Amino acid sequence: MSEGQSTEDLPDSEAEWREQLTDEEYEILRERGTEPKFSGEYLGKAEDGTYVCAGCGTPLFDSETKFDSGSGWPSFYDAIPENVGTEIDRRHGMERIEVLCATCGGHLGHVFEDGPDPTGKRYCINSVALDFEDEA
Ligand code: FE
Repeated sequence: MSEGQSTEDLPDSEAEWREQLTDEEYEILRERGTEPKFSGEYLGKAEDGTYVCAGCGTPLFDSETKFDSGSGWPSFYDAIPENVGTEIDRRHGMERIEVLCATCGGHLGHVFEDGPDPTGKRYCINSVALDFEDEA
């Protein structure tokens, strides 16, 4: 998504999303896919900044909350309040909590209760669903 795009410009059909996103982004964000573990470009990233939604640019995770979970996916112990939503996901014979962008509804990953202090949460997020913005 280009910079300065407002939420009013969000696609209102899956066909438009397909045009706007790369195939990889579409598969994760719109079809609730999962990138292969240890494949993501943000897995080892440690710079200060903000991880925003690759679909709509909404700020989702602060780099301060990023930690190395060993899972193979970028992991955060907290999300930016209001901007991230959750839903119960019963696919694949499991019950998991799906994490979504509250602005565009894009699938980001899942959240588990085995994270570190201070929240005890582990947001397990696809790199493909994120863009990184340097600290201004
Ligand atoms: Fe979004």
